[in-house]
Amino acid sequence: QMRLAARVGQVNPSLTLAIDSKAKAMKAEGADVCNFSVGEPDFPTPAHIRQAATDALEAGKTRYGAVAGEMKLRQAIAQKLQTENGLCYGAENVIVTNGGKHSLYNLMMATIQPGDEVIIPAPYWLSYPEMVTLAGGTPVIVQTDETTGFKITPEQLQQAITPNTRLFVLNSPSNPTGMVYSPDEVRALAKVVLEHDLYVVSDEIYEKLLYDGAEHLSIGAVSPEAFERTIISSGFAKAYAMTGWRIGFLAAPVELIRACSLVQGHSTSNVCTFAQYGAIAALEGSQDFIQDMLKAFSQRRKLMLSYLNEMPGITCVEPNGAFYLLPNIKRTGMKSIEFCETLLEEQQAVMVPGVAFGSDGYVRISYATDTDTIKKGMERLDKFVRSRL
Ligand code: PLP
Repeated sequence: QMRLAARVGQVNPSLTLAIDSKAKAMKAEGADVCNFSVGEPDFPTPAHIRQAATDALEAGKTRYGAVAGEMKLRQAIAQKLQTENGLCYGAENVIVTNGGKHSLYNLMMATIQPGDEVIIPAPYWLSYPEMVTLAGGTPVIVQTDETTGFKITPEQLQQAITPNTRLFVLNSPSNPTGMVYSPDEVRALAKVVLEHDLYVVSDEIYEKLLYDGAEHLSIGAVSPEAFERTIISSGFAKAYAMTGWRIGFLAAPVELIRACSLVQGHSTSNVCTFAQYGAIAALEGSQDFIQDMLKAFSQRRKLMLSYLNEMPGITCVEPNGAFYLLPNIKRTGMKSIEFCETLLEEQQAVMVPGVAFGSDGYVRISYATDTDTIKKGMERLDKFVRSRL
């Protein structure tokens, strides 16, 4: 048997993908499965975006392109970051990547080496610590819970900093909690970042998925000093229902973009050329689609919360971003994996155990699914938790 590299042994397989494949297998065997593990909008990519990519394909945009992306897309992204986020970037500050996941991976490869620490608040998106580990660095996990709305406080951040800290990962709106840092909370974190000469990677992929008047402030927009210390990671997947297109981007000081281009130039090269034209259309075309999608998500979120609030043994804070809820299941006495496995076997409902996000005692439920599934699935969950108390 071939010897594998040690780094492979240090990485955990994706629990979400494992659960998803189990659910799909059950479905293939004919089971009536309610799937709440999905991390993607259940809407098709808007027609004008699909059309732009089709046109580009027909027009021969089928060849190798510049590693960092089509200039027109880099410009459109820089423009978006200026007008929507107040971040003064030019095209040279942007690299187009194969999804937000790839942006972050490039960044870790370009900046992290053995001995370096990266501060990650839990519950976290499960790829952050794994990417840090793959790059040879050390993830430093800071636990948060309901008492602070699952948000890291400036004091907690301060306490986690050591001379080896290189990066702090901020994700607002958050996967898996759905929580959104208020502008004041963002400013308070920026202060700590600057006091300690850190860099912050701000994963803003859910920035447009906000409810009940929640406001998104990019940490890079707090001050010119914070701007210099910020790296933005984002993508088209969530806001434009483009998960399978694999288009994301990183925006940062030029030296960092050059370093990421170097890594990307020897790994994936440019993102699929004609797909990038779809992304240009996403930014330049009508944004109405997002409002329609948000309206649907907002209703489903309320519906799901109303069920959860009636269930014994479960409590759930109300988040105002992304499309996830993270109810607390501690009073059921089950660990999150046991909870999800038994729920799947007994009630054919799929949820993701919180332990995958570094916080056992919770499960993640996605409401990027239709209302019938939500009603049926929540009734099953209700039956399940009642049977355990
Ligand atoms: N960041 C967060 C917080 C996410 O939840 C995801 C996707 O689930 C990503 C980044 C990466 O998205 P993609 O690679 O599909 O653009």
